[in-house]
Amino acid sequence: MNEKGEPVIDLEKCTRCRLCIKACPVGAIEIYFTPEEQKILDELSAKERAKPEAAPEKPAEAHLAKLGEYRGVWVFVEHAEGRPAEVSWELLGVGAGLARARGVELAAVVIGDNVEHLAREAFAYGAHKVYLVDAPVYHYYRTEPYYRTLCYLAEKYKPEIILVGATGLGRDLAGAVATRLETGLTADCTGLAIDERGFLLQTRPAFGGNIMATILTERTRPQMATVRPHVMPMPEKDASRSGIIIREEAPVREEEIAVKVLEIIPDTRLDTVDVAAADIIVAGGRGLGSAENFRILEELASELGGVVACSRAAVEAGWMPLERQVGQTGKTVRPKIYFAVGISGAIQHLVGMQDAETIIAINRDPHAPIFEVATYGIVGDLFEVVPAITAYIRKRRAEKAAGSK
Ligand SMILES: Cc1cc2nc3c(=O)[nH]c(=O)nc-3n(C[C@H](O)[C@H](O)[C@H](O)COP(=O)(O)OP(=O)(O)OC[C@H]3O[C@@H](n4cnc5c(N)ncnc54)[C@H](O)[C@@H]3O)c2cc1C
Repeated sequence: MNEKGEPVIDLEKCTRCRLCIKACPVGAIEIYFTPEEQKILDELSAKERAKPEAAPEKPAEAHLAKLGEYRGVWVFVEHAEGRPAEVSWELLGVGAGLARARGVELAAVVIGDNVEHLAREAFAYGAHKVYLVDAPVYHYYRTEPYYRTLCYLAEKYKPEIILVGATGLGRDLAGAVATRLETGLTADCTGLAIDERGFLLQTRPAFGGNIMATILTERTRPQMATVRPHVMPMPEKDASRSGIIIREEAPVREEEIAVKVLEIIPDTRLDTVDVAAADIIVAGGRGLGSAENFRILEELASELGGVVACSRAAVEAGWMPLERQVGQTGKTVRPKIYFAVGISGAIQHLVGMQDAETIIAINRDPHAPIFEVATYGIVGDLFEVVPAITAYIRKRRAEKAAGSK
């Protein structure tokens, strides 16, 4: 803008591409050049065309050599006031494989207030080493002290890989750390492996779940990835394992932190059922037809000691709360038994449940894609099949109870 508030085109910078005209959402831009301006622009574009083509950018040799200074696989141990998030142990499971493939150590990073017990638990789940920063400033999670501390540790000890759970907290922390360390971060990975050059292959669904993309962080370290809970299997716990604890002083002081936690108020409106932790899930989709019809799934779930979940179609119809949605934009689950009732089996649903031990699909369409991942498939009307299963279980239970008298 000039001093009169009029827009001015910087002729040194303008390339006449006119993309600004297309980009303006209200069509407010029109460009006309005076003959003198046109002359300058023509000269500038002629100069531009005469320039030899720049060689493709190569990562600086010195920088590549620096990548070799980074060693070890780290897992950030998430917790809420000392109660660990299980995803941290799942990440130690996958991290152990990565560390073996790279011939390096697996370390856990424990930041918190009075959290030494988490270091012992990290050893039980496979960590060789724990970086422990224990101080009152970490009592409640706040982005600033946590991300500054993780950055401090990463800059000091230079890990090649950092894994973080793709939870609300983990996404917040990992994004801040990657930004500050100026490194790559791949969110919501469903697969992690090491390639022949020793780089981390980070695989995740892309384009609405229609393709799987494998992403590499080639030029910077650490390589950072987040993984959703229940995507990776839980490793065996062995309480006899131990390791080295590296204690660090907190590199941040309370008076430096702008955000203060005054009180924690639990959201009582939130659905208290934890779908992701359930062993038996009875999930319903659009085929249920109404919120009331989910009652038949509640009955089956209660007979089996399970919980009711749903597809996104059921959430969008307002039949079920978002917390119960399974899939790419919902929860990832790994139950022992997953009933998919009136669910077609769209890829975005499958990515959230296909690792269930047993999948029982009930659908009246024999060609529904859900049958491709199902262990058992029942082709039929759910309003007949589901009550029949519930009635059968009740009958067997009653017979068993009568037999034991
Ligand atoms: C970016 C993006 C993210 C998404 N994320 C998710 C996600 O996280 N989770 C998710 O679930 N979806 C997600 N979706 C939506 C997904 O693509 C599907 O639209 C959705 O999963 C379909 O839900 P549905 O199977 O319940 O419904 P439909 O595809 O309509 O299937 C209903 C099924 O019910 C069967 N049926 C109907 N009546 C009966 C009956 N009486 N008896 C037996 N069977 C019956 C039908 O044969 C059909 O197979 C996402 C989509 C996009 C684009």
